[in-house]
Amino acid sequence: MPTVRVRIAPSPTGPLHIGTARTALFNLLYARRHGGTFILRLEDTDVARSTTEFERDILHGLRDLGIDWDEGPDPDGGPDRGPYGPYRQMARLERYAEAADRLRAANQAYPCYCTPDELDAERKRLEAARLPPRYSGRCAALTPEDRAAFESEGRRPVLRFRIPDGPVAFDDLVRGRVEIDGSALGGDLVIARADGTPLYHFTVVVDDADMAITHVIRGEDHLSNTPKHILLLRALGYDEPRFAHLPLILNPDRSKMSKRKSQTAVGEYLADGFLGEAIVNYLAFLGWSPGTEEEIFSLAEIQERFDLDAVQKGGAVFDRERLLWLNGQWIRRLSADELVDRLRPFLARDLEAGRIDRMPTDDEVLVLVPVIQERLPTLGAVGELIGFLFVDRVEVDPAVIVPKRWDSATTVAGLRAARDTIAAVGAVSYEAEELEPPLRALAEAKGWKAGDLFMAIRVATTGRTATPPLFDTLVALGRDRTLARLDAAVARLIRGSG
Ligand code: GLU
Repeated sequence: MPTVRVRIAPSPTGPLHIGTARTALFNLLYARRHGGTFILRLEDTDVARSTTEFERDILHGLRDLGIDWDEGPDPDGGPDRGPYGPYRQMARLERYAEAADRLRAANQAYPCYCTPDELDAERKRLEAARLPPRYSGRCAALTPEDRAAFESEGRRPVLRFRIPDGPVAFDDLVRGRVEIDGSALGGDLVIARADGTPLYHFTVVVDDADMAITHVIRGEDHLSNTPKHILLLRALGYDEPRFAHLPLILNPDRSKMSKRKSQTAVGEYLADGFLGEAIVNYLAFLGWSPGTEEEIFSLAEIQERFDLDAVQKGGAVFDRERLLWLNGQWIRRLSADELVDRLRPFLARDLEAGRIDRMPTDDEVLVLVPVIQERLPTLGAVGELIGFLFVDRVEVDPAVIVPKRWDSATTVAGLRAARDTIAAVGAVSYEAEELEPPLRALAEAKGWKAGDLFMAIRVATTGRTATPPLFDTLVALGRDRTLARLDAAVARLIRGSG
């Protein structure tokens, strides 16, 4: 058995897609499980749509997820790693030209002079007759004289590979035996454009052979391409790798996952503050399951359990709520210092956007960890939760501060009394609850519902109706700022009603 060599072959024509990350992960897992090598190759022959920004997004995104490749381009622009390079198709053009020459010499491929208009007319005729699109093979048997005549008209040919009729079968490692007839593949296949640039079906085969790929693990959307690849491999005299087609990722309505219905860019999840660990954990479950009830797995833990025989055939629905839940679980597992490190860029972003007025120190965030760690669905939610501590003043909306059962005058009275009660309490500390008993006693003495009083205090001191627990919030604010914000809220209410 040759050593396992698997690959991910993204096209840099868009940002890193959830589906590409899932395929990359399954390839990595398979390689690690079998002591193999994981290769990254860039399919960048679509020059018009490929950009270096997308390339960067893909390489950095995978790296941020911890999906590291053994061979391939360097994400920071250094030289390619690995002995089978180059790992970018645009740097491999002579390999394709050489393979194309071989196919031509063996009459397995031929020049086709049909114009786009002619092909279009052909397609429309088939459509009208309710037949599937298929190249007629008009140029399959041209004589040298026919070709010379077309050339003299100025026509430049594409190169077509002869697709024979007859069944093409393979044993898919996920789906079992797959058999498709050559006649269903759309007729002879264009493998190079008139300007000589090679096309996907052809480059993928040459690359997989050159890079000694043993297992092609990719999305089910490629299932119908595989017979074409097998025919090309055979024609070129290459060994066939094993194939494994991973289930489609679906929107909640079970349509194929799309940008329109789901967030598909991995970079956006990272920017929202999803942890790489949580994304990887979630992606692993898109088509695979460990066969137990456990749900939280690190990449290393999945690596020990993963194999293709536990991959399902049916589509995998992308459930954002579940990802969000997993993310919260992963945030809870971080050490306090690690959480502070990971929150820093999100707080810096809040500062830049003017949502906070100063950057908290690491120590200031560290003391808050016990009150926020359980409450952060994403790292990006940190500003919502503790931003009020790092703003010079909070905006208090009079419509929000007055509890439903209260009027403005009661709220003013409540906040003043609360102010005096808090001022009378000495030192306070987290979880020691020095503030709660006297404030509850105050509410009782006045005949107020404690919840109303507490909500008025919360809004007065934070500007928000949802915060970490009130007394922890007041401890974090400190005595002076708490009193000042209560005063300011009272003044605002008096102004508002006056
Ligand atoms: N560039 C192709 C894609 O991203 C690669 C497909 C393959 O793995 O063969 O879909």
